[in-house]
Amino acid sequence: MVGQRVVGEINVGCGECELCRTGDPRHCSKRTVLGIVGRDGAHAEFLRLPLMNLLPVPEKIADEHAVFAEPLAAACGIMERTPVTKDKKVAVIGDGKLGLLCAQAMALTGAPVLLIGHHPEKMRIAERRGIETATAKNAAGKRHEFDVVVEASGSASAFDTAVCLLRPRGVLVLKSTFHGTSEINAATIVVNEISIIGSRCGRLAPALDLLKKGAIDVDSLISEEYPLRDGLLAMERGAKKGILKVLLRP
Ligand SMILES: [Zn+2]
Repeated sequence: MVGQRVVGEINVGCGECELCRTGDPRHCSKRTVLGIVGRDGAHAEFLRLPLMNLLPVPEKIADEHAVFAEPLAAACGIMERTPVTKDKKVAVIGDGKLGLLCAQAMALTGAPVLLIGHHPEKMRIAERRGIETATAKNAAGKRHEFDVVVEASGSASAFDTAVCLLRPRGVLVLKSTFHGTSEINAATIVVNEISIIGSRCGRLAPALDLLKKGAIDVDSLISEEYPLRDGLLAMERGAKKGILKVLLRP
């Protein structure tokens, strides 16, 4: 691996528990997580991951595309939690990076996907990939039409929107972590027998495969790029509303 370009699975398990022994440390109770729990992330001068977490980046994938491996894996991770096939109608709420990756990844299954957002220039990224788009207002007319709705906007009000869009026995996938607590209308969920599932990290190998095939438009998700010496400016820009991915080039 020395000298090779790699991407790394961010969850590092204890290696001993039942989950780790089956090769999936994502829910190991003693896990550390790169840049999130007990382990320096990619803003540190050096970072460490076990060799088993590393996957070589195929030559065909440019650096600026490879950096999408982890969020794209998270998008693909939805399909680990609930099946998405071409006979399922899917809606994704949120036109940020995560929503755009989720919509593109799920559209590859052949399922008709509707992306609900409110930034025309971001929705166009999805439209160029044959994904239908709508504002929340326009989507309100599509009550009970969807088999799967993915909440990727991080807005608390999106929960109710999602429940309205789902057909009875539909599946609501919570992909973004709300800050704060959200009130839910439990009665509708019971009456319509809605399943609510959470989805966090996916696997890197299928994401690298999609990037290698050029199956996902990630170029359009890069808003700006800066040399490392302008790192502080890049951080500032990345935190601005409406900005998608900001890249730092070492
Ligand atoms: Zn473990």
